[in-house]
Amino acid sequence: MSELASYAASSANSRGRRYLEAAPDYRSEFQRDRDRIVHSTAFRRLEYKTQVFVNHEGDLFRTRLTHSLEVAQIARGIARALRLNEDLVEAVSLAHDLGHTPFGHAGQDALNECMSDYGGFEHNLQSLRIVDELEERYAAFAGLNLCFETREGIVKHCSLDMARKLGELGARFLSGQQPSLEAQICNLADEIAYNNHDIDDGLRSGLLSPDQLMSVSLFHEHFQRVQSSSPDLPGRRLIYETVRRMINALVCDLIETTQSNIARSRPETLADIRLAGKLVGFSSAMREAQHEMKRFLRENLYQHYQVLRMTKKAHRIVADLFSAFLSDPRLLPEEYRDRGDQPRRVADYVAGMTDRYAMKEHRRLFAVGEI
Ligand code: MG
Repeated sequence: MSELASYAASSANSRGRRYLEAAPDYRSEFQRDRDRIVHSTAFRRLEYKTQVFVNHEGDLFRTRLTHSLEVAQIARGIARALRLNEDLVEAVSLAHDLGHTPFGHAGQDALNECMSDYGGFEHNLQSLRIVDELEERYAAFAGLNLCFETREGIVKHCSLDMARKLGELGARFLSGQQPSLEAQICNLADEIAYNNHDIDDGLRSGLLSPDQLMSVSLFHEHFQRVQSSSPDLPGRRLIYETVRRMINALVCDLIETTQSNIARSRPETLADIRLAGKLVGFSSAMREAQHEMKRFLRENLYQHYQVLRMTKKAHRIVADLFSAFLSDPRLLPEEYRDRGDQPRRVADYVAGMTDRYAMKEHRRLFAVGEI
């Protein structure tokens, strides 16, 4: 790895961990964070959680786990090109979706509605709760005791009300400061990853067709280029080659735009980065192209009737489980019973379920004729 930029996050300028620990022997602090995340229970569950397609619908669709790996791969490439901290972007990318409920956004919306009288539910904040409190692996503390910069990267956004409760982690939302460039990168690497892999999964599932996608200018442009340079390419390779080039175009645009934003702002330290405006971003043309892609996916894939059927059912499963457990906490495993804040513990339990575990629990509690 070439030398880091002076404004990159590093073990040396880290704000440290909540509980003081001796420095690791052969790793950087952010490598240690990455390793703790990979060994966590919540990380292994990502394999069985829906991204868009429910886990059992097919073996080739993205899951939260493969999505997180793609985000890490894209974010590391960008970080290295900009001489930023690859270990930190890897840690944040791998942790960014830990707090997701089963069944993707449908599950999160349902749980948020269930929790509306009890402080709401937000997957971002749940990811933080997992790494700060819920993982139980270490003798000296609850949670994973990650560095400030990793935790900061996990909390991408939050309401001002919540920011007030988050202490030093919420301060930047109140003062309008930015997180590290590494955190900013993970945010956009997430978007690059899901827009492109949703197109890929959408085509593979047959819910989207290449013809439909011609209305997305970025797809159209690269599809035509591939077709004219390789006219005999069979369909599947044509699509993969197109998506690959789209990802590359987005990544290159992001690197170049960010480089010129940095050159204009001339930061010297990480503190300068926090005070500067958002420096990681796309050119305005690429931002527009990216919005167009998102709009297309929302209208044609996320609202597709076959996806909506799954969404509706997922909503019901999550809501049923929540109300069954809240109305009779004796149905919960012992460690989730809590007279202090029972709704939050029910949300922890339901949010932690994989898709199939949630379906199994639902059958156990509601299937008539099955005890
Ligand atoms: Mg994500």
